[in-house]
Amino acid sequence: MMAYTSMEIFDNWSDPNFKFFVNREGGIKERMDFLMKDRRVEDEYLGACLDYIRWGGQTTVMYGLETKGLINFVQHWMDLNQDNLIWGDKEHSKDFTLPYIKHNKCPRDEKHKGTIKDLAGRVRCIHKSEKRLKLSFIENYKIFDEHSQMDKTNYFEIEPRDTLPDDAWDENTGELLNFYKEEWKEYQEQMEKFEEEKPTVIVKDFCYAILSDENVIFSLEEVLDRLNLELRMRTVYCSGIECKRLDEIPEDEKWLYEHGMCMGHEEENDKTIHPFDGWTLALYVQKWYEQVLNGRVPVWKKDKIKNFGT
Ligand SMILES: [Zn+2]
Ligand SMILES: [Zn+2]
Repeated sequence: MMAYTSMEIFDNWSDPNFKFFVNREGGIKERMDFLMKDRRVEDEYLGACLDYIRWGGQTTVMYGLETKGLINFVQHWMDLNQDNLIWGDKEHSKDFTLPYIKHNKCPRDEKHKGTIKDLAGRVRCIHKSEKRLKLSFIENYKIFDEHSQMDKTNYFEIEPRDTLPDDAWDENTGELLNFYKEEWKEYQEQMEKFEEEKPTVIVKDFCYAILSDENVIFSLEEVLDRLNLELRMRTVYCSGIECKRLDEIPEDEKWLYEHGMCMGHEEENDKTIHPFDGWTLALYVQKWYEQVLNGRVPVWKKDKIKNFGT
């Protein structure tokens, strides 16, 4: 997606008035440990603190922290500065907003019409489509639908298919070989049934694509996830072929690790990447905080919303 250069930003990129400006020996990790100790971030701009612990490339900056760690860092700063939250040294411009979804038309199909607002305040497309399917030939699969951010079940019809190979027919006579006659007959019967059966099952589908979530209160976790250019989770493999973490695998998944081969482990990515510096990140954090007047704004994502409008 982008070329990230793991290059440390040099001193002239940062604010020389920042009180730890001179204390730059050591890497990012040391700087982070340094800031987390005692009350060091008290009375400091959040922007300056975040900018102090980032790496940067030409177009992106990186924190050696997963979302969880970044949230801990912000919370530590907020705890020490709760009476005087100084986010950055300048106001954000009027059109600076949280990373909302904003569409004028349905992102799935611009011809869709009609919207509703769900309980959380998202504006969703209410376009309804209907199809009729033949009961004996219905299949379904579940997917996570990106447009609606919901689990969806798709229903469709499977037309019988003949699975006979090309050489089921005699090369010279063109006649079906005896061996395949039974299979061919079954296929013919299925086909006949398919053609005769009436589509009696009506499947209704609501689009529910999100057109806007500007009225939704976002948790800090969601805001950071949206801004992050890295994947939140990643799959890591043990070095060598053998899995060295077999004891972590649940019993019912152990069969996947046949012969002790490593099939990978899901882990939270230990870095986050943004296309802007720490000062801008602090402005986003400020926007997040200011969503609710009394400051009781959610930090962590609640469980994914499965149902709404009921
Ligand atoms: Zn739609
Ligand atoms: Zn492994």
